[in-house]
Amino acid sequence: MHKNSVIEISQKAHKKNIDFLQKIFGKKVILSSVVKGNAYGHGLAEFVQMAFDNGIQHFSVFDVEEAKIVFDTLQNKATILIMGFVADEDMEWVIQNQIEFFVFERYRLAKAAKTAKKLQQKAILHLEVETGMHRTGFELKNISRVAQFLVKEKENIYFKGLCTHYAGAESISNYYRVSQQIQQFNKAEAILNSFGIRPEIKHSACSAASMMFPETRMDLVRIGILQYGLWPSPEVFVTYLNTKKTKEDPLHRVIRWKTEIMSVKRVKTGEFVGYGTSFMATDVMKIATIPLGYAHGYSRSLSNQGRVLVHGKSCRVIGTVNMNMLTIDVSELEHVKKGDEVVVIGSQQNATVTVASFSDYSNQLNYELLTRIAKTIPRKII
Ligand SMILES: *Cc1c(COP(=O)(O)O)cnc(C)c1O
Repeated sequence: MHKNSVIEISQKAHKKNIDFLQKIFGKKVILSSVVKGNAYGHGLAEFVQMAFDNGIQHFSVFDVEEAKIVFDTLQNKATILIMGFVADEDMEWVIQNQIEFFVFERYRLAKAAKTAKKLQQKAILHLEVETGMHRTGFELKNISRVAQFLVKEKENIYFKGLCTHYAGAESISNYYRVSQQIQQFNKAEAILNSFGIRPEIKHSACSAASMMFPETRMDLVRIGILQYGLWPSPEVFVTYLNTKKTKEDPLHRVIRWKTEIMSVKRVKTGEFVGYGTSFMATDVMKIATIPLGYAHGYSRSLSNQGRVLVHGKSCRVIGTVNMNMLTIDVSELEHVKKGDEVVVIGSQQNATVTVASFSDYSNQLNYELLTRIAKTIPRKII
């Protein structure tokens, strides 16, 4: 088992985030916890169990592999929704276990009906509509055909949800596009209604849309990044602060990633540190090496950029991030030694390394950095 580092997951922080979100959305809106990408790096099985203990009963995943992990953890105590890929050979397992899934093209719709018929068990579908993101979803012009199919196959298909996904609700620059998408979604619903069919629920919002466009909340919100205690973008955060006339961040970061110093040494002025010449000591320095690198998900793009905490002080990453190691500047710290705790994400004493500070230039990278944290690192619920 990997011993170089540990990821601590705070159940309390998650509970506070969930309470905050549920208060905003109201009791009638189902909060689906989006746990694709290994629960945004938090560790899928561990996170799902903890979220369930915190009251979450609905989980959205990307594919069958993830659905199976959630199912193995919680059996049928929670609803599982696959938003992305279902391989043909997995369709039986999905239907048999009443896993719900997005359907966004005719082939899968037909396959679902056929498999359901064979199993004599209804497939529980969420019909995804193309409203302007142009990723997946039925075009509006095909909705009446789909509607007829749903009428014909009502013995085999349970039309649970009507849904869509927005193309960048976290940025005001996409305001027009998202507004158009909402209109398109309503049109799709009207077409279905004209055939006398109605989904049990409608849903469209991710974290950003749920905060920026309240009308997108509908019956269920698919919340990823917010429940982990991070904002989808600074714009969403600032908009929240302005509308609530508050200065306080209501979210609490759930993840804390820590490791320890494996070696300390001194370098003289003019020496290069690590591979090549990307870092030269301009003074006599004390440096420390920690057993984390890009193989563990600490991005190489943080070479000479990243910050970690030792003794409650922020220390620079110096030189290039290696595959399994990186070096930090600990010149300012007095009694620093092998075995001292190093915090890569999270707090230590009064200091904090935010996930955003991993990369201040693009918030989208938060998602990427989190999901790249190696699966082999143990996750510990605290
Ligand atoms: C990832 C995803 C979400 C959640 O996005 P967040 O920004 O993390 O809230 C919601 N819906 C779909 C379809 C997604 O792929």
